[in-house]
Amino acid sequence: MNQPIKKSEPTKAELIKINSQNLRGAITEEIESEARGKFSPESENLLKFHGIYQQKDRDRRPPSERKKGPKPFVLMVRGRIPGGRLNSQQWAAWDEASAASSGSLRLTSRQSIELHSVLKRDLKETIAKINAGLSTTTGSCGDVVRNVVQPVNPWQSPQLKAIDPVVDKISSYFEVQSNAYYEIFCDGKKIDSTQEPDLIYGKAYLPRKFKIAVTVEGNNSVDLFTNDLGIVAQLDQNNHIIGFFVFAGGGLGQSHSDPSTFARLADYLGWIPQEWLIPVSEAVIKVQRDYGNREDRSHARLKYLIDKRGLDWFREKVEKESGLSFQDKAFGTWNTPSYLGWQQGAQGLWSLGIHILSGRIIDTEGKPLKSMLRYLIEKYDLQVQITPQQDLVLLGIESAQKQEIDNFLKKSNIFHQSSAPVFESAMTCVALPLCSKAFAEAERAGPDLFTSIDRLLKEHSLEQRAPIVRISGCPNGCSRPFVAEFGLVGEKPNKYALYAGGDREGTRLAFKIYSLASMDDTLKILDFLFFAWTRFGKQDEWFGDFIFRIGKEKIINLINFLFKDKSLGVGELSLKANESRSL
Ligand code: SF4
Repeated sequence: MNQPIKKSEPTKAELIKINSQNLRGAITEEIESEARGKFSPESENLLKFHGIYQQKDRDRRPPSERKKGPKPFVLMVRGRIPGGRLNSQQWAAWDEASAASSGSLRLTSRQSIELHSVLKRDLKETIAKINAGLSTTTGSCGDVVRNVVQPVNPWQSPQLKAIDPVVDKISSYFEVQSNAYYEIFCDGKKIDSTQEPDLIYGKAYLPRKFKIAVTVEGNNSVDLFTNDLGIVAQLDQNNHIIGFFVFAGGGLGQSHSDPSTFARLADYLGWIPQEWLIPVSEAVIKVQRDYGNREDRSHARLKYLIDKRGLDWFREKVEKESGLSFQDKAFGTWNTPSYLGWQQGAQGLWSLGIHILSGRIIDTEGKPLKSMLRYLIEKYDLQVQITPQQDLVLLGIESAQKQEIDNFLKKSNIFHQSSAPVFESAMTCVALPLCSKAFAEAERAGPDLFTSIDRLLKEHSLEQRAPIVRISGCPNGCSRPFVAEFGLVGEKPNKYALYAGGDREGTRLAFKIYSLASMDDTLKILDFLFFAWTRFGKQDEWFGDFIFRIGKEKIINLINFLFKDKSLGVGELSLKANESRSL
């Protein structure tokens, strides 16, 4: 039981990393060569470690034309932005860099920014602009510690402020020890790769990506349990961190066709004194490095290792590696505050949390969102923080500036609130046309779906209790639909697996209630479930809690009944279900 997983010959993906001379490969040569306008598969893999994905524009490549002509390859560039915190200079640099992309800034669910549709010939200049603003893209993708997330702090709360240095420390400590990024993209001095050993990652890096979230007790805006490593700071009365509650083994990605893959919430490992955070985090990462599955990337995340070997085995390994035993301290409850709208902080400065639909910051006819944000951020030298819900908070606004900013925004048709409550908490991933994994639309399907859900909520007088709805184009689940109150996950073009039953604090997995639902099916199901919620929900019971209380089996039976006996309206069906004690 305690033996390492049997080692076999390295896979192709592992060999690419091992033979890459610390992530250099042939990227420089291929950037300089204009041939085919695309990178080789080896470089494509290595580029991820530098924050770059090679993609195809699937809109420009309909099935009927797949065999014709060269494929339009483009690049996605993603930032490493610890805690989503940027100053005005960094924001301006990203805005500047977006000139060579599709023209928008896409905020991500891990508090980063993505630029889409960058051409190979513009790649170096784009990265140079980002670097010029003292921001970076290194390590935002690939088999390493990804962008570290933390709650936003519009209140200038000293408790939340206390974790800024923790996030920065983790982010820099687990950055790859290779000069490759600077040599390739910044014309940095060449270093012999044999002279830069990486004592944490080694030559093969981690088996898969590794996500870390840091928060304080009570605030789960980071969806802590969906991370490989979740860290919760415990503070004393003077707001000094005294220790951390440590969680491990969360992750949402799975495959529709492989039942051995699954979403999993992180388990509680125990409490550690504050000075042990880095040694314990390093131990968690090293155990995953040494024992994680390197033969099958679909089972390579830490969650599968913990599931296979057991939590006790994992805890013991981490304790042995770090030299510290976890303490068994009781853990509190969650009560995550809203960060949207105007908030006045402890030192009198204001912040403005702006809801950004699907995190897409773009200028459109009559609504110059991107230009106006840049203008305000530069004019008032504001700090910003991207939220783990793809929204944006402007920070450091003086009282005298508040009205001016409000006026500027209103004049530009920009409102910090969303058009309806259901929009406010909703999230979508990018999906089509750029993500190669997408089976169905997500971002582009969001507005119509959310509008229809809002209509249904109004019909049932539920609009003020809108559930958290999230859409992902595939079961990788980048928008975290598996912990939403209601989640849609692309299965085929225009067809979704539906999940329900997550809670508003992100502490419970939603369960699958339907497969291959069209948008019409989805709305019919929601209409029925909303009706049932109004009739049989307890007072103040949220949608996800109601679905969870009724239970997976009953909900699935009722939905099947709904589609079988089409003559019944939702009201009749719910009453019938109640009569037969199904609810
Ligand atoms: Fe792409 Fe899937 Fe992530 Fe959406 S969830 S962005 S489709 S990988």
